[in-house]
Amino acid sequence: MTIQTNKMPAAYLPGNSTVVLKEVDIPVPGHGQVLVKTKSSTICGSDIRAIYHQHLGKGPEGYQNKIAGHEPCGQIVQCGPGLKRFKEGDRVIIYHISGCGVCNDCRRGYMISCTSPHRAAYGWQRDGGMAPYILAEEKDLVLLPDELSYTDGAQVACGFGTVYEGIEKIGICGNDAVLVTGLGPVGLAALMDAKAMGAQKLVGVDVVE
Ligand SMILES: [Zn+2]
Ligand SMILES: [Zn+2]
Repeated sequence: MTIQTNKMPAAYLPGNSTVVLKEVDIPVPGHGQVLVKTKSSTICGSDIRAIYHQHLGKGPEGYQNKIAGHEPCGQIVQCGPGLKRFKEGDRVIIYHISGCGVCNDCRRGYMISCTSPHRAAYGWQRDGGMAPYILAEEKDLVLLPDELSYTDGAQVACGFGTVYEGIEKIGICGNDAVLVTGLGPVGLAALMDAKAMGAQKLVGVDVVE
């Protein structure tokens, strides 16, 4: 696909509870990378907690003045050389942590606990989804099934994926009753996942009425 311009607006969260729009270059995908047209990009609790109000993040949570948004979903519009699976036109979720890909944790699927200096989270240590386009590594892509919308996809990787991992470890099935305390997006995702895995009795409570 031909992109008509080489500039785009992008949202930054510089701290002090502000959002700044800047004009930046549209990135060009290199080897093993794709350019994704952002179709949906959700706001996470951690964006609010660690970035928006103040830069509380230390270590891996440290903020480095990158385009915000670690829950992006969109469509591939440009491919760099060397791709192994994905192609232009594919609908994709971008998993929010780009691990080194070769350490023990990355190879087991736990990019989040990668300790390589090459590890970077989208929207934190590398540019994220709060812009019309996002540059992503092919290895970080998850194919979005046709029956899910782009906004479904944006919520899957960080919010639903986090609880899915936990629920799968517990091994929830039709014999279980499930109690979830705290009904934010992740808590609600836990109930939806548990229901889909067969749990018959679902109870949710929250301190907020
Ligand atoms: Zn998130
Ligand atoms: Zn790694």
